[in-house]
Formats: sequence, C-alpha cells, structure tokens
Amino acid sequence: MHSVNCFEPSVNGHRDRSPDLAVIGAGSAGFAAAIRAAELGASVVLIGGGTLGGTCVNVGCIPSKALIRAVEPLHQAQAASRFAGISASARVDDWRKLVGQKDDLVADLRQAKYADVLDQYEGITYRQGAARLTKDGIEVDGEILTPRKIVIATGARPAVPAIAGLDGVPWLTSTTALELTELPASLLVIGGGFIGCEMGQMFARAGVRVTIVARSGLLSGAEPEVSEALTRYFGDEGIDVRSGVRCMRIGAASGATGVALEIQDEDGVPEIINAERVLVATGRCPNTAGLGLEDVGVGLGANKGILIDDRMRTTRVGVYAAGDVTGRNMYVYMAAYGAKIAAENALNGDLRGYDDTAMPDVTFTDPQVATVGLTAARAEALGFDVQSVILPLEVVPRALAARDTRGLIKLVADSATRRLLGAHILAPEGADSIQTAVLAIKHGLTVDDLADTIFPYLTTVEGLKLAALGFSKDVARLSCCAG
Ligand SMILES: Cc1cc2nc3c(=O)[nH]c(=O)nc-3n(C[C@H](O)[C@H](O)[C@H](O)COP(=O)(O)OP(=O)(O)OC[C@H]3O[C@@H](n4cnc5c(N)ncnc54)[C@H](O)[C@@H]3O)c2cc1C
Repeated sequence: MHSVNCFEPSVNGHRDRSPDLAVIGAGSAGFAAAIRAAELGASVVLIGGGTLGGTCVNVGCIPSKALIRAVEPLHQAQAASRFAGISASARVDDWRKLVGQKDDLVADLRQAKYADVLDQYEGITYRQGAARLTKDGIEVDGEILTPRKIVIATGARPAVPAIAGLDGVPWLTSTTALELTELPASLLVIGGGFIGCEMGQMFARAGVRVTIVARSGLLSGAEPEVSEALTRYFGDEGIDVRSGVRCMRIGAASGATGVALEIQDEDGVPEIINAERVLVATGRCPNTAGLGLEDVGVGLGANKGILIDDRMRTTRVGVYAAGDVTGRNMYVYMAAYGAKIAAENALNGDLRGYDDTAMPDVTFTDPQVATVGLTAARAEALGFDVQSVILPLEVVPRALAARDTRGLIKLVADSATRRLLGAHILAPEGADSIQTAVLAIKHGLTVDDLADTIFPYLTTVEGLKLAALGFSKDVARLSCCAG
C-alpha cells in the first residue's frame, strides 16, 4: 500500500495517527470508497456532513421509486378494462399515510444499509460534520486531520435555473415534492430530464393535473423515437408536455393561489401556464462550494463538477473524487463503481481505470426507458458506419399478451463488424431487460451473437433477440419463439 502523504502534517500533527484514507461525504459513493479501503486493510475516516446515507436512500432512488411503485396499481386499475371481462378500481385514500410508509422504508434502509454497516468495519471511523480542505489537511469541527489520501464524495443538490421571479414563489425540488403530505390539484414541472419525467408521471397517476415544460423535449439525450413515443404516452395519460419552450418568468397567479409561468415557444409566442405548485427539476449541481477546493488546487470541469481523470484523480496529487460531485454519470451504481476505483487507486497506485462504455441508464417512467451504449447519432458522430433496427413492441409476444404494446426497441450496430454499439428500450419492463444488452456491449458481442442466443418466451427481453434478428430478416415473417 502506498503511504505517501498528500498533506504534510501540521506543526502538531501526528503522522503515525494519520488515517490512510479520509472520505468526505457519507452517501453511496462515500460508503463504497470507505468499505473498499477497509477491505484492503486501510484505516479510514469517513466524514459525513448531512443525513447519513446521502441522496439515494434519503431523498433520491428509494423514496421516488417507492412512490412510483405505489401509484402503479392506480394506473393498472384504470387500464384493466383492456382485458375483456375485467374491471378494477383503485384510488388514493390518504396520501399522507403513503408518504409516511415511504418515510418508514427510508428510515429502515438508512439504518440497515448505512448505520448498521458502519459497525461491521473496524477500519472505518465515522465523523459527523462538514469537512473543508486546507493546506494542512482536512478541517472538521476545528480539528485538522492529516490523512495520507483523500476521496471527495460530497454529491450534488438540485440545480436552480435562472428564471426571473423564481425567488418570489414557493417552488418544490425533488426532495420537497417527495415530502408533500397533500396532493396539489395541479403541478407544473420545469424540466424534462429523468427526475421531471418520473415525478411528473407519478403525480399525474396520483390524480394531479400535470404540465411538464421542457426546453429540449423529454429525455433530450435519448434516441428521438424514444423521446417522441414517451411524449405521446404521457399525452395519452393526460400529462401536458410542452417541448421546445423557454421559461421567461414566474410569479404568483393573479387572483388565485398558485403560480403562473410565462413561457415562449420556438417562434417567440408567449403563453401563461397556471398551476397550484411548481416543481423545479432542471438537473443536479455538484456540491463543491465551501470545500476549500481552490485553496488546495482541486480544479473543476466545465460541468462544474470536480475534474477527474480516468483513475479518479483530481488535479491535486493524492486527492480523488467520485460520485455526483464529479458532475457525470449521476447514478448511484456509478457513484459506487467510481468510488471503489478511487479508493483502490488511492491505496494501491492508480492501477484501475473507470470505464462507462457499458453503463445502463434507466428512467423509471411507464413504459420504462432503459439504454446502454451509443445512440445512432452519437455513433455516427464518432465515425461508425451505423446500422440500426427499430422494433415496435407490437411484434413482441409478451406485449401482445399484456395487451400493452406501448414501446419500442432500437439497436444500433457497426455495419462493418456488426458489433452492438447501443441498445435503447422503451417498454414496461425495460429496466430489467437492458442488462442483457449491457453484457453484450461489455463483451463486444455482435447483433448475430444476440440473435443466436436462446431467450425465454414470452418475455420483454426476448424483444432484444427479435430486434437483433431484424438486422438480417423481416421479423414480421417469423413464427413464434423467433423461429
Ligand atoms: C429524485 C432522485 C431520484 C433518483 N433516482 C435514482 C435511481 O433510481 N437510480 C439511480 O441509480 N440513481 C438515482 N438518483 C441519483 C442518485 O441518488 C445519486 O447518483 C447518488 O445518490 C449519488 O451518490 P453520492 O454518494 O455521489 O452523493 P450523495 O448521496 O449526495 O452523498 C454526498 C454526501 O456528502 C455530504 N456532504 C456534502 N458536503 C459535505 C462536506 N463538506 N463534508 C462532509 N459531507 C458533505 C452530503 O450531505 C451527502 O450526505 C436519483 C436522484 C434523485 C435526486
């Protein structure tokens, strides 16, 4: 293990008591880094400035998915009559109760997956408090720690867009929207990224009248066919999606409670949208302020996150960063993946590189949007001679049996080698289905390898095989089981 100290101990410092590694931020990345370092035999101090566990368990993945799951039966009941002879009903009786149940789940998981885990690693010492980097080391509560190496994992917070008047209205973030104990009659969602889409649909299914305003449409980085179809399905559920608009100013609605947002379409035509509440979901901003980064030479990238190289090294020797604070791949599994690499590299000599080529990316709408690898446009921009196949879910037996054929699968391949470059699934069970494509891309498989693989019948993931067959055959002419 390397033992070069990235900070000289202060005059009174005790090098012998210096931890091998200090991890700043006790969220998913911080825990992953601390645990990996402890597994490697290092002494670790984990410094947590906020609620233990950070974003995912407290205000992100867990609470949002708990509520998204809860409103599924509401939609299923409404859609049950697509089966002849079936009807069902479901309604929200007590939103406060549901939110309380979600809070209990959050508290249980925070205890089981974070607080209790700390006790299981002797090598990890937990310090509560906000940390700041100084020339001498890390300052926490007036004490200076002089670790040999540092991993910064301070996460991100909701970004605040520059919309005139926003300061003057009570706006919700994803965090406060998940805490609402009463449903508003109407909700305006500003932002069409994954948080805006997931939460917009969740509230709509709970009975709220939802409008989403999105400058570049829903999920602007997705394949255009996916984004367009999702917008259509949202419309079918009564969600009003305004794409290609600019938010000009926001204020209190005249003569009524709530807010009024002035937007302009692409031709500059103004319009006012009124809603009881407004949710701002315009991205996440890395937590870099107040950390003293400029004092110790840790630089920021164009995305305002901490600049790192593929070894997770910042611009200061001995200081690494991982997770949302780097401003890229803001998913919890990527936070954990990067943090493990950062810890290993800090302790063992920068041997491991970060590779996101086969990173899955899921939006938990219904249908789910799940993607891995390159879009056709990105692959073309990179110089590939691209071949792509789009398979509508109408030809996937599972979707037919479910009488729910919303969705499509788009595969992108390099026509020279037939290697799979990207897979894009819009399907009710897309999130679980994407992992097959993740493995295919990770291991450099071709679309023929996928087409030759045995898939179970009737599954959504079988759609991947059908789409792969689409590179050489007309899928409409196949018999069952893709035979
Ligand atoms: C609504 C929502 C839904 C999401 N859903 C999903 C999902 O379904 N799947 C998924 O993969 N990802 C999801 N994400 C993203 C995921 O939550 C984040 O990518 C992940 O939690 C980031 O982990 P992190 O450790 O980098 O940061 P965090 O979990 O934010 O942890 C950083 C910690 O550092 C602390 N800190 C900050 N400054 C200091 C300081 N100076 N000193 C000490 N501590 C400090 C913070 O208080 C915080 O506790 C979602 C996010 C949101 C907001």
